[in-house]
Amino acid sequence: MTPQALLDRVRIVLCRTSHPGNIGAAARAMKVMGLSRLYLVQPLCAVDEVAAARAAGADDVLASAVVCGSLVDALAGCVQAVALSARLRDLGPAAVGVREAVPSLLRMTADGDVALVFGNETSGLANDELQRCQQAVTIPSNPDFSSLNLGAAVQVMAYELRMAAWGGLPPAPTTPATPFRSAPAAIDEVERFYAHLECVLVATGFHDPARPRRLLPKLRRLFGRAALEKDEINILRGILDSVEKPTGPRWQGGAADTEPHGK
Ligand code: SAH
Repeated sequence: MTPQALLDRVRIVLCRTSHPGNIGAAARAMKVMGLSRLYLVQPLCAVDEVAAARAAGADDVLASAVVCGSLVDALAGCVQAVALSARLRDLGPAAVGVREAVPSLLRMTADGDVALVFGNETSGLANDELQRCQQAVTIPSNPDFSSLNLGAAVQVMAYELRMAAWGGLPPAPTTPATPFRSAPAAIDEVERFYAHLECVLVATGFHDPARPRRLLPKLRRLFGRAALEKDEINILRGILDSVEKPTGPRWQGGAADTEPHGK
């Protein structure tokens, strides 16, 4: 199965959610990570314009959300359900680490749908909801402040699912822009630049040819490391021209920085 096909088999189940904003946030969190199957068990609020605003474009996930009367209904057809809980109970399902639970959940998609089950904002998952799941995961967090916002908890798990589906290397969201490139400058072009630079440094008084120290070889080292391109030589020569013949601002007449410089 392709990584996307694995994600297509994951249901995100929200139990007794009370804030529409959290339903919207969960939809957005899912869509940005390539998940689409939202299940709402006995929602305590409407999927309204507040939810739509927080979904920020993930309206399709909201529109296709399946509203269920019970968690058992939401899990019908699933081969595995993992509960998300900041507080594990002694009679609850086996506690498993996030990075153990998620890959194993994805492997089980070979046999059917799988589910991540999230609780109510105030009370979390009820004991009977936890007991409908085969494993429980706690997102590692500050022991003194361990409860994430529901939408944030969905986001963390959706990210983990995406990472695991692509074996740790999901494709980047956009292909990088073609980097700007100019041909490398020819040796003679670079030599003419050094000659021009030396003239200007003498004229400004920075360089004294009678006491050269090691300025010019050091500048060659500096520019040598830069692997100068033709475009860059033109800029540098233009800068030197502007030092030799300052005109004041001249951008109104068009930028002169990439004029070809053959001298
Ligand atoms: N006050 C509730 C937490 C509600 S947060 C409680 O004490 O249980 C809403 C839901 O987000 C939780 O039911 C759980 O599904 C998920 N969640 C929040 N923080 C989590 C964490 N650290 N680990 C796993 N799930 C978490």
